[in-house]
Amino acid sequence: MIGIFLCLKFSIFIPMNRKDQVIVIGGGLAGLTSAIHLAGQGIYVQLFEKNTYPTHKVCGEYISNEILPYWNTLGIDVNILHPTQLDEVQISTKKGNILHSTLPLGGFGVSRYSLDHHLYELAKASGVVIIQDQVLDVRFDTNKFLVTTKSNGLFNAAYVIGAHGKRSGLDKTLGRPFIQRKSPWLAVKAHYSGIFPDNLVALHNFEGGYCGISKIEDDKINVCYLVNFESFKKYQNLNDFQDQVLCANPHIREFFEQAHCLFDQPLSISQISFDRKSLLHNHIFLVGDAAGMIHPLCGNGMAMAIQSAQLLCQILVNSFKGETQTSEAIESAYKKAWKHQFSKRLAAGRILQSIVLNPYLQEFGYAIGASFPATIPGIIKQTHGKAILC
Ligand SMILES: Cc1cc2nc3c(=O)[nH]c(=O)nc-3n(C[C@H](O)[C@H](O)[C@H](O)COP(=O)(O)OP(=O)(O)OC[C@H]3O[C@@H](n4cnc5c(N)ncnc54)[C@H](O)[C@@H]3O)c2cc1C
Repeated sequence: MIGIFLCLKFSIFIPMNRKDQVIVIGGGLAGLTSAIHLAGQGIYVQLFEKNTYPTHKVCGEYISNEILPYWNTLGIDVNILHPTQLDEVQISTKKGNILHSTLPLGGFGVSRYSLDHHLYELAKASGVVIIQDQVLDVRFDTNKFLVTTKSNGLFNAAYVIGAHGKRSGLDKTLGRPFIQRKSPWLAVKAHYSGIFPDNLVALHNFEGGYCGISKIEDDKINVCYLVNFESFKKYQNLNDFQDQVLCANPHIREFFEQAHCLFDQPLSISQISFDRKSLLHNHIFLVGDAAGMIHPLCGNGMAMAIQSAQLLCQILVNSFKGETQTSEAIESAYKKAWKHQFSKRLAAGRILQSIVLNPYLQEFGYAIGASFPATIPGIIKQTHGKAILC
């Protein structure tokens, strides 16, 4: 049924009678969106994902509404997942001074557990061949790619999309420069039950990091924080760290005092890199976090992942239709489109993160925001984009 609906939404053409057109590495938001977009245009797509669905991911789970018009064109309707609608933001300094604002574009809260699984089902229904396997290596040999997987051997493709997220063993094999540098950031996430407003995204600062709190589906509350390892390493475990460091902010303390964790253990990840990355590596097109990651406090990483898939897929579809002829032209079109769409956002995110993590600038920012509250939505807009229509 879904497959029929997706077909109706697209003007289908069959570009080439080949079984080796596109390989997508990674089935997160960028990879699954790319696969659905291309398969909807009659392109044969094989997607490799090393994990099984559904699974939890460390993420604040707030998605900006800017992606909705594009997802609509792909037949993706997130309302099926009953997300919460989020239109207000609250930002507190580590001392507990607090600012309120509306979220200019608004967004919605839904767990990655449900969302990625939903996209996975849609991708399968739209004809994507999804293979649960880890990609170990990718080589470009004159005019085709050779993709080596852990369990299923070798695959060929005309194009490879690297949608393998912020940090993968594959980046090491490919020798991407950012992977050589250590990153001090680690992140923790869990779902809670408790009392929290339905429409609010709270961003509370604490020593060495910040914590996002917002609702997702089924009245659950996502709590996700990013912290510098230097701040974390003095504590023996997560509970001690949360009690002594996060709860020094009275708003976080107030939340934890009444909330109940729904996970056996919070999830954690480390080595989160915000370094600049290449958009192409040996002709592999990189999308989502594999191409570059905005600081999580901006709440725009998922939108960027989805929009980067959109930019690339539009270019690839045109090339399959015969509009863009050479691989150099395709690569340069993608780089240009990506930079045009995201460079300013990433720069704004870097500036904002350095202000938020500096205790003096944080209080100064609070004083400005409290005196001129109308400036806050404008600042948030700098870290977000406009919807890109197909
Ligand atoms: C602490 C934190 C909080 C965040 N909060 C928000 C938020 O509230 N809002 C927001 O918009 N963004 C947020 N983000 C950013 C957001 O999570 C990412 O930008 C988004 O998940 C990127 O999607 P992706 O598809 O590029 O990568 P991912 O979702 O990470 O998907 C990559 C996939 O590739 C797979 N993979 C990796 N290597 C291989 C391989 N070799 N072979 C096969 N499969 C492989 C992985 O298993 C994974 O499923 C947050 C990030 C962090 C760290």
